[in-house]
Amino acid sequence: KKIVIALDGHSSCGKSTTAKQVAAELGYAYIDTGAMYRAVTLYFLDHHISLTNPKEVSDALKNIDITFHYNPKTGRNETYLNGLNVEDEIRKMYISNQVSEVSVVAAVRHAMVAQQQKMGKRRGVVMDGRDIGTAVFPDAEVKIFMTADVDTRARRRQQELLVKNQLVNLDEIRENLKKRDHIDSTRAESPLRRAEDADLLDTSHMTIDEQVEFVMHKVAS
Ligand code: C5P
Repeated sequence: KKIVIALDGHSSCGKSTTAKQVAAELGYAYIDTGAMYRAVTLYFLDHHISLTNPKEVSDALKNIDITFHYNPKTGRNETYLNGLNVEDEIRKMYISNQVSEVSVVAAVRHAMVAQQQKMGKRRGVVMDGRDIGTAVFPDAEVKIFMTADVDTRARRRQQELLVKNQLVNLDEIRENLKKRDHIDSTRAESPLRRAEDADLLDTSHMTIDEQVEFVMHKVAS
């Protein structure tokens, strides 16, 4: 029987890397919900949408189409905004610096959650995000809440950016992670929090393989 696996938690604690590998092992779809909020942020910035103008926001959301397509060259699913590959653009720091403010807007969340529920309605998905186990799929069969100490997360994030030729100062990354975690966990609409029935996984001293094993063990039990 196909299930839903919800991986929530703080920024940059290994959710997406773990989710991708678990999805590959199970033959499930992997859905990166953070990429969706990042794509909305890119659109809002490009079109100068004012977050405090409900009409502008709802009109913009009607014009936003987000899809994922597998790229055999990179071996990963890439994010498309209105037919355009935005995978690299949405990972840049200027998006990371705005995405949490955009994600606070209730209309944005409603649109994204509805689309995520559609994507997972036949189950057989691994979804990573902030509110999957609490709001998107409260009935997910496996729920994990991931965290790690902020210095470890900052170093890992810096490494990821470096691979993409982006040299970013460690302090800047650390401040961005802290700021996002704060906004994400204090917003009114489905804030970042551990679902009561989610297992806590601190990845500070874990390898990716150990993280994957932890999730696979939950799936099997
Ligand atoms: O996962 P990632 O770090 O790419 O997510 C970027 C941002 O998108 C988060 O900091 C959060 O503000 C927002 N987000 C959210 N709900 C989700 C996934 C991401 O609010 N399910």
